[in-house]
This record gives sequence, C-alpha cells and structure tokens, in this order.
Amino acid sequence: METLETIFNSLLYPFKIPFLASSQIYWLYVLSTILVATIIYTFRLGHQDKEKSFLEYLFPKSIYLHPTSITQYKYFFLIAVFEIFFVVPTIIFLEKFANITCQILIQFTGTNTPLLVTNHLLEQNIIFSIFVALLGDFANFLYHYLAHKIPILWEFHKVHHSAEVITPLTVYRIHPVEMLLGNITIVIITSLGTGIWMYLFGTEMKEILIYGVSFEIFIFYLAGYNLRHSHIWLAYPQWISHIFISPAQHQIHHSVDPKHYDKNFGYIFGFWDWIFGSLYVPTNYEKLNFGLADEESKFFNSVANLLLHPLRAIWQRISKKSA
Ligand SMILES: [Zn+2]
Ligand SMILES: [Zn+2]
Repeated sequence: METLETIFNSLLYPFKIPFLASSQIYWLYVLSTILVATIIYTFRLGHQDKEKSFLEYLFPKSIYLHPTSITQYKYFFLIAVFEIFFVVPTIIFLEKFANITCQILIQFTGTNTPLLVTNHLLEQNIIFSIFVALLGDFANFLYHYLAHKIPILWEFHKVHHSAEVITPLTVYRIHPVEMLLGNITIVIITSLGTGIWMYLFGTEMKEILIYGVSFEIFIFYLAGYNLRHSHIWLAYPQWISHIFISPAQHQIHHSVDPKHYDKNFGYIFGFWDWIFGSLYVPTNYEKLNFGLADEESKFFNSVANLLLHPLRAIWQRISKKSA
C-alpha cells in the first residue's frame, strides 16, 4: 500500500514543481522574472521591435504556441517524472560521499584535528557556503563544457539546443541520460570537495540555505533567472558580464550563428568562461535565431524523438566507426 502511495505521489511531482524552491520555475522566481520583464518593458531597457501591448510583449503567441513549445509542455511531464524516480534518489545517495570522503581521509592520514580558521561559526558557515557555491558552479560549467566537446555527450545535449524558441520550460528540455550524468558529475565533484573541506576545517559548519536552497542558487533564481530562457533581452554591463552570466549571454549560447558556438557555458558565474576563453559578451542587442546548425532541430519534433533521436545519432556514429 505504502509503495503504491509513494508511486502515486511521485506521479504528481510535475504539478508540485512550481511550488518547490529548488526548481527554476518555482512560482516566486517566475513572478520575480515577470517583475524584471515589467521594468524592462516600462523603461524600454531591452529591445522592443514595435509597439506591443504588455501581454503580447510578455507572452507572444508566436513563441508560446510554437510547435517547439507545444512539444515542450508535453515533454515536461515525462522528464519531471524521470527526475523524481531516478535523479532525486541518485543525488540523495551521492551526497553521502562528502562524509565518506572525510572519513577516508581521517583513516588514511590517521589525524582528525581540523585546521582552525576562526572560532566564529557564522564566519565559518559563510566561507564554507562560498566555497560550495564556487565549486558547484564550476562543476556545472565543467559538465556543460564537456557536453559540447565530447561527441556522445553532445548528442544528448542537442536536445536542449534543439529548441527553436525558448521559454522558461526549456530548462526541462534535457535528455534523461544528460539529466542523470550531469547531476552525477556535479554532485560527485561537490561532495568530494565538501569532504576534503570537512577534513581540513571540521564538520561543524553548515551551508547557508534560504527556503532549503543554497543561498547563491536562491538569489540567482530570484534575480530574473527565467529570462535566460525567454525572448526578452537583458544584458549586463561589460564588467558585470565577466562575473555573472546575463540572460542575454545564455540566449547567445542557444544561438545558431557560428560565431556564437561554444560560448558562455557558465551557469551563475561568467569567470569560468573568461578563464577558459569561451566568454562572449554582447556589446549591443543582437537578433538571435535559436536551434541547431544545419536544421538538425527538425529531428527533435516530438516527445518520442526528443528521447530517441540522440540514441539513433549515437548508433549511427558507432556503426560508421566500425564500418
Ligand atoms: Zn549548451
Ligand atoms: Zn539553455
């Protein structure tokens, strides 16, 4: 009985997502994004082609009723159910690696006396939280970078880039294999780092959370995160764009223009791209077309094809190699 109830509850998960502060489309983040869009519209800070009513500006039918979006709405339910059944349990399991790493290091070195940075727990928590934020964001950058550079990973990542129009739900346009591999990579790196930190500085400190979410993630999502998967242009001043990836910079990441390929892999911070030479900061508004090169987006035109096309493409790569 209990398992049946758990399964039923999990199937309701897609409907619970808008009420989870850990999700990018949590109602508060969507609301704050609309607020930022309202400011852009009112003060004409972005780019408006012609006079449009506020609603047309915010939710253009050509985008929200585009075939890409319609497929996306259906796909959302599927990938959300996959997330709760497979990805969430994997993350919970892998997070144990922080403690395990710390224990192994203690066993290995035979010492258990952490270096003391400061006596103040709050200061320790702040330094620890900044460390975890930087490490987690770097892990995110690294997986995204590899997803573009390793051919098999790219076949899966193409699902995200196949969107010809982007809306806040595009964040859920991820192949299940990528969702799993990406999370495994990020959580393992973060847990190993946390374990080493705990060994060096002790186990007392806690990450600073807001509504149960890492503080940097909460602030990042609240600051108009959803604009990055939207038609609304918001670029930051040049110097800020080297520190934080603006919504416009992520839109450039989705552009089909060859000069934009493999640019702006970053999630929160722009300096990883800056260091690795993949940062692209727009100087002016750029009119963008989204999707894959050579019209490959057309192969991702249904829920089934979003799931199956990467597998077909990988199969073709393998059979070509062995031929
Ligand atoms: Zn990408
Ligand atoms: Zn994206």
